[in-house]
Amino acid sequence: MNSQISERLRLSKSVVGQAEAEAVSRVILEDGYLGMGREVAAFEQELQDFLGCSDRQVICVNSGTAALHLAVQAVTRPGDEVLVQSLTFVASFQAIAAAGALPVACEVDPETVTLDLADARRRLTPKTRAVMPVHYGSNPGDLDAIYEFANQQDLRVIEDAAHAFGCLHGGRKIGSFGDIVCFSFDGIKNITSGEGGAVVTKDPQVARRIRDARLLGVEKDTEKRYAGQRSWDFEVHHQGYRYHMSNVLAAIGRVQLRRFPGEFGPKRVALAGLYRQLLREAPGVCLLAADLREIVPHIQPVRVLAGRRDALREFLGSQGIETGIHYRPNHLLSFFGGGQVPLPVTEKLYGELLSLPLHPEVTEAEVRWICSRIIDFWRAEEKETLS
Ligand SMILES: *Cc1c(COP(=O)(O)O)cnc(C)c1O
Repeated sequence: MNSQISERLRLSKSVVGQAEAEAVSRVILEDGYLGMGREVAAFEQELQDFLGCSDRQVICVNSGTAALHLAVQAVTRPGDEVLVQSLTFVASFQAIAAAGALPVACEVDPETVTLDLADARRRLTPKTRAVMPVHYGSNPGDLDAIYEFANQQDLRVIEDAAHAFGCLHGGRKIGSFGDIVCFSFDGIKNITSGEGGAVVTKDPQVARRIRDARLLGVEKDTEKRYAGQRSWDFEVHHQGYRYHMSNVLAAIGRVQLRRFPGEFGPKRVALAGLYRQLLREAPGVCLLAADLREIVPHIQPVRVLAGRRDALREFLGSQGIETGIHYRPNHLLSFFGGGQVPLPVTEKLYGELLSLPLHPEVTEAEVRWICSRIIDFWRAEEKETLS
C-alpha cells in the first residue's frame, strides 16, 4: 500500500474545520443567544438564495427526520396512507408513522433505486394522501412522472431529498420546484449544520403550519424570535414540537453552504466520476444509473453480483476499507410489518447493495486503490472457480 492512502478508509465523515469553529465561537462569544434567532433567519435566506426559490419558503429544523415529520403532519390526517419506497433510511418511515399516517412500502426501480411508480400505483387506496419519493444516492429518478401521477390522483408530494442537496433535475435545483421538499444537514450529508434539516415549500398554508409546529405550535413565534422578541400572550391550534434549529447549528450550516459550490460539490462529483470510470468494466459489480452533470452524490452504492456482496464487504474490511449497506428495507423491520408483504425486487437488491467510501476527504489515489482491491477480489474468485 502506498503512503498516500490512509490505513483506514472511512465510508463517510463530517468535513468541518476552522471556519465552522470560528462561526460557532462568534455565536457564543458575540451574539450570546444560542436558541433560534437571526443566525437561523440568515441561514434560511441564504438557502433560499442558493436554491434560487424566492417564491418559496425555507424552514430550518433540527433534523431531516423532523423536516419529514412536520411535512407529513401538515398534509395528512391520522390513518392516511403515504406511498414510499421500502429501500430508504428508517427516518422516512418513522417520520410518516410519527404523524399517525401509514407508510405503504413500495418497490424501487433496480437501475436507480428510486420509487417504482408502476408498483406505487398498484398500492393506491382511497386513503392514500401523499407520495414520498426518496432521492436515493442523490438521484431524483423520474420525478416528472411522479408529479404527473400525484396531480392525477390528487396526492401531495413530499420529496425526501436528504441525499440530494445541491442536485439538479432537468437543469433545475431540487427544492426550487415541486410541492414539499425536505433536506437533511446531518453530519455526513452533502452539507452539515451538525444536525439539522429544512423544509422548502411554495404552499403558504403548509409553510405556516410547519413554522408554527417546529416551535410547539405557538402561532407566529418565528417572526417574534427573528426580531429578538418572545411570545408571552399566544395561541396554539395544532400539535407542535421542539424541532426548531438553533443559532449554533445555523452558524455551521452557513459556512458549509459557502463551501459547497467550490469545494464539497465538485469533489464529490469528481470522486464519483472516477469510481464510475474504474468500475464500469470491472467484473462482478454493477453501477447504478446516475447523471453526474446533474447530481452531487452523497453515497457511492454499487450492486455486487453472484451472491458475493458479504464476501466482498468482508474482504474490503480486511484491507481497511469501510463499506456500508444502504439500507435494510423498512418492510422487513418488525415495527413496519416484519416482511409480511413481500417486495421481491427490493429484497434482492438488499442482498446486492454495497456503498463505497465517499466524502470530500477521500483522495483520487484512494479511489484507485479501492477499485483495484475490488478487481483483485474478483480475479481471486475466478481462479478459485477454475482450479
Ligand atoms: C439522513 C436521512 C434522513 C434523515 O435525516 P436526519 O437529518 O438524519 O434526521 C432521511 N432520509 C434519508 C434518505 C436520509 O439519508
